[in-house]
Amino acid sequence: MSCAMLLQCRHSCKKGNRLLRMLATSYSSFVKDKAYINGSWVAAANGNTFSVINPANEELIGTVPDMGIQETQSAIDAAHVAFDTWRKTTAKERSAILKKWFSLIESNKTSLAELLTKEQGKSMADSIAEVTYGASFFEWFSEEAKRVYGEIMPPSTADRRLLIMKQPIGVAGIITPWNFPIAMITRKLGAALAVGCTAVIKPAEDTPLSALAICQLGEEAGLPAGVVNVITTSSKNTSDVGKLLCESPRVATISFTGSTKVGKILLSQSASTVKRVSLELGGNAPFIVFDSANIDKAVTGAMACKFRCAGQTCICANRFLVQDVIYDEFVKRLAEAIKNQLVVGNGLDEGVNIGPLINEAAVNKVDDFVTDAVKKGATKIVGGNKNSLGKNFYEPTLLVNVTTDMECMKDEIFGPVAVIIKFKTEAEAIKIANSTDVGLAGYFYSQDLGQVWRVAEELQVGMVGANESLLSAAEVSFGGVKQSGLGREGGKFGVDEYLEMKYICMGGI
Ligand code: NAP
Repeated sequence: MSCAMLLQCRHSCKKGNRLLRMLATSYSSFVKDKAYINGSWVAAANGNTFSVINPANEELIGTVPDMGIQETQSAIDAAHVAFDTWRKTTAKERSAILKKWFSLIESNKTSLAELLTKEQGKSMADSIAEVTYGASFFEWFSEEAKRVYGEIMPPSTADRRLLIMKQPIGVAGIITPWNFPIAMITRKLGAALAVGCTAVIKPAEDTPLSALAICQLGEEAGLPAGVVNVITTSSKNTSDVGKLLCESPRVATISFTGSTKVGKILLSQSASTVKRVSLELGGNAPFIVFDSANIDKAVTGAMACKFRCAGQTCICANRFLVQDVIYDEFVKRLAEAIKNQLVVGNGLDEGVNIGPLINEAAVNKVDDFVTDAVKKGATKIVGGNKNSLGKNFYEPTLLVNVTTDMECMKDEIFGPVAVIIKFKTEAEAIKIANSTDVGLAGYFYSQDLGQVWRVAEELQVGMVGANESLLSAAEVSFGGVKQSGLGREGGKFGVDEYLEMKYICMGGI
């Protein structure tokens, strides 16, 4: 049954949703072995491929083309040509395709989540949450497409009319990381397509299959050829592909999510063509628990904030700061929660809520943080070792007696390791929280209303969770300050990254 027929069923059949679920494509039919350029599924020009491996058990999931600058140039050219017609479609037409795409992702949620868990490792619950979150950007931007308004200004001379119109900027080069292989694409792509831009996407080497699966559904949703192109590349070719995207005069904007280190490279490369650049980079989130906090809620929040996706999110709590009066109680309760609530294993297995890390290098990096902290005086309360389940697993860990000179306080841990530092006063907590050159998210728990306002205002971050540890949503603006990035994604401002303002002065009226 074709997808169009499926969608028709959805409208005509009372039990449409159930039917769609029953007929949803299995995960294996989403495993593509070709990349997507100009509406065609294509191999690398030289036939090279690379393997995609399940980090939980090291099984081969598939192989994809290992593309380089030749294919990237083809994708840029295709997106450049497609821009000429896509930008002239009406907002309503673009909106309809995005909405259909959203529905297709929703109706294939379980299969997409299974694929995501296989290539990324996160638990099925985390994968379902990501697919839902990822799809929500297509729904959100399908609505925002219709709300790209210009402005008319009162002129200072009577014979003029002054107005600003907003137009799509052009081809967007989109580079995304492995930790949210679907949502980091849809958050950018939804906004870009909604306003009339076309795109060339380079997903991470570890997770190209989810990107291609989303693309497959875009094709079914009716995306014209060339509007979205996906280049798959191993890290061998990544820097060449990235450089071409940044330096090509046919690419109007670069939107990148990933490490601050790579973000700086792309920013500098984009200077050659004075390109618009949007960067969603790394964080080092403080999670402050004040003595007035509801400790139950703080522990629940800490568990979700630290351990979802095995601690591999850019807004995961990185540094727990706990006030001296409640320190022992909080440590005890968090340790119990870690021991009792976390089940480590293959994310596909029932009951597992914490999967492997993305690869062995990530495990070694986490282990280095723990070794450094312990050497400098930290104490292991729970875990603190590589996990015997496999080379990509690390034990959920709790370290106390942590001090600001330890590496785990200065850098993103990006793993299931909670580190706690003790503080005495609000001023001291804020000073420690802000003593970093990045500022993505920050969290705190307090029942003192005045303190809630003060701390929310003082934290040098782009996003604050006040008595809340899960911040992300399609309707808000996601992004950081300092070296955590440039620009915002999602929400009503998300489209601005893909729009140019044009001032028109009409004289002789
Ligand atoms: P990464 O090493 O910066 O890689 C991210 C992407 O950039 C991948 O597609 C990677 O390709 C590509 N890349 C690497 N070097 C490149 C170069 N020289 N030119 C062009 N592209 C290049 O980051 P990661 O380790 O995958 O992801 C984790 C980081 O992302 C963390 O710092 C995390 O905080 C951050 N992050 C931020 C947000 C946010 O919204 N602020 C969200 C999620 C993650 P290959 O895979 O082929 O190397």
